[in-house]
Amino acid sequence: VCPTGALVPRSEMDEVLTALADPTKTVVAQVAPAVRVGLGECFASPAGDPVMGRMAAALKRLGFDAVYDTTFAADLTVIEEGQEFLTRAAAGEKLPQFTSCCPGWVQFAEQSFPELLPNLSSCRSPQQMFGSLVKEMLPEKQGIARKDLIVVSIMPCTAKKFEARRPEFAVDGSPDVDFVLTTQELARMIDGAGLRFNNLEPESLDMPFGFGTGAGVIFGASGGVTEAVLRFAAEKITGKTLASVDFAEVRGESGLREATLEVGGKTLRLAIVHGLANARAVAEQVVAGNSEYDLIEVMACPGGCIGGAGQPVPKDLADRKRRTKDLYQCDKTFPLHKAQDNMFVTECYDKFLGDVGGHKAHSLLHTHYQSRRRVSDETLVLLSGDPAQTK
Ligand code: SF4
Repeated sequence: VCPTGALVPRSEMDEVLTALADPTKTVVAQVAPAVRVGLGECFASPAGDPVMGRMAAALKRLGFDAVYDTTFAADLTVIEEGQEFLTRAAAGEKLPQFTSCCPGWVQFAEQSFPELLPNLSSCRSPQQMFGSLVKEMLPEKQGIARKDLIVVSIMPCTAKKFEARRPEFAVDGSPDVDFVLTTQELARMIDGAGLRFNNLEPESLDMPFGFGTGAGVIFGASGGVTEAVLRFAAEKITGKTLASVDFAEVRGESGLREATLEVGGKTLRLAIVHGLANARAVAEQVVAGNSEYDLIEVMACPGGCIGGAGQPVPKDLADRKRRTKDLYQCDKTFPLHKAQDNMFVTECYDKFLGDVGGHKAHSLLHTHYQSRRRVSDETLVLLSGDPAQTK
């Protein structure tokens, strides 16, 4: 179930199959980092076994015109969110900065801690950055109408379905992300099409949006967003190339971890949280003025997206650990490990987005939040004086 407890996931498999069968539509997939270490378990592979190549082959056989990697957009998120953090830190404003890539956490903050919304990064999640960018760039590049480009997300997550339906992530009513499938739903589609997943020859992803760095891929594990942002911010602060990209201080399994780092003469106080009970505890600290953190990463699911509600249910805790370990192994095997080194992202800024945090980047890659604080039945009665309000 959804970590917020508020969502009833609805499958969009039929709509995706209809789009795939429609010759007037160009249908592209974006695959979130954590899916590559989860999908194999649906086909009896060991937990954590990375299967991105076979997944790409399966998606092509299902009829997708291109298979891209949400990791590309995670790299964009690192750069936009890292720059935002450095700007806030320099001004001493709106700190601590909370991450905003988890829609389960964002919705929880909107409902339970609206006073903290100015502290949330204004960055869209990688899923939504990908959708808005691709819907803006591909139609012109391929000479097709926006309405004929269908973006399907493959996510570890049921909260992403709600996120894709938010009205702010649409242009004239046309969503940036059309449909969201979970890891388990993709496995059912592969089975339903009669594909023998384990016999598929791995295929490569499509460029340029299929290229990501290790910084983007570790977004799928708790602590990964913080580490990816540190790989960006540390080079910005010091003006020097990092000797090592590993920030082991922010890794780990505990649901509430703290780390203090000295970077270029600055002290950075960090908190990494997974699970909404832990998020509530930290948020209450910040509201009470008892927090000294500069940056707080929150992921709603246990272990982060590798433990998302759309992933296969892990047999035991060891399965979750193997997924995390293999995601960090993917980082090791990727050719690049810092978002700022992604040459396709750099090209995207040079030719299309303009400056990091600039006007166009803001309109396509950032968002705003709104209070969704729930009013209790008792409050409604007090306000209206009408007991029928509770019915
Ligand atoms: Fe979705 Fe990841 Fe957040 Fe879980 S932690 S709700 S899988 S974005």
